[in-house]
Amino acid sequence: MKLVTYQQDGQRRPGVLTSRGGSDVIVDLLAADASLPGSVRGILEGGAAALAQAAAVAQAATTVIDAASVTLAAPIPNPGKILCIGLNYADHAAESGQPLPDYPIVFSKYSNTVIGSGEAIILPKVTDMVDYEAELGFVIGVRGRHISEADALDYVAGYLPVNDVSARDYQERVSQWTMGKSFDTFAPMGPALVTADEIPDPHNLAIRLWIGDEVLQDSNTSQLIFSVPKLVADISEVMTLEPGDIVSTGTPPGVGAARSPQRFLRAGETCNIEIEGLGVLSNPIVAESSAD
Ligand code: MG
Repeated sequence: MKLVTYQQDGQRRPGVLTSRGGSDVIVDLLAADASLPGSVRGILEGGAAALAQAAAVAQAATTVIDAASVTLAAPIPNPGKILCIGLNYADHAAESGQPLPDYPIVFSKYSNTVIGSGEAIILPKVTDMVDYEAELGFVIGVRGRHISEADALDYVAGYLPVNDVSARDYQERVSQWTMGKSFDTFAPMGPALVTADEIPDPHNLAIRLWIGDEVLQDSNTSQLIFSVPKLVADISEVMTLEPGDIVSTGTPPGVGAARSPQRFLRAGETCNIEIEGLGVLSNPIVAESSAD
């Protein structure tokens, strides 16, 4: 099931992205069954019963919305945590001139960074070194602490493409990456949260990023150093994970800062990330208004 949050009349509504007659359509879950929770995170909090109810409602729905006619938000627009993993692909660590980590490098982004597919990445007026990072994200579905690697996938609700947008000058200015990673709109994610039952092996997914006809990243999640279960186990050793929390697993090689010449995002472009089975995350790039 592909869970989405879409925007209508200033409201965010949970839906299921599906196909009818070869076209992408959205089932408005609340219109179909008002007893369902009012958000994707609420559906996750409802556990297996709420997910099964949503799937049944989506399958039975006779009224659908043309997906092309609506604006998506991120599936979880206001996650409690956004945890990102640094240097989790060996060849990206090499291109960054960094040693391979022997323990996951975890940093945070905040809900001000979250946007959905189709929404604009805003280039801040204070930097011209804004870079892209295609990443596999996973979403927690079950509250837990001290989760073992063996049990970890039972706590994962699903997966989605994430763009860990990064202002390299702010990132490198001091030892903490937070400022360079946390400008508004710097965490596009979506288009949908694809539930884990559709992704039997998250460690064998093609991942690709392109702008126009330039393919800038082209790899596979088989190259991850720290696996999804390892990350769940290590993070939950420290903090309680909650439904809707998002972990972005790190980026493969090909980032703009490591290219020669360097290649940063420019206003007017559209940045696209596709992960096998998870769809395409597509975001136009716009300049911050000088009046802001
Ligand atoms: Mg990253």
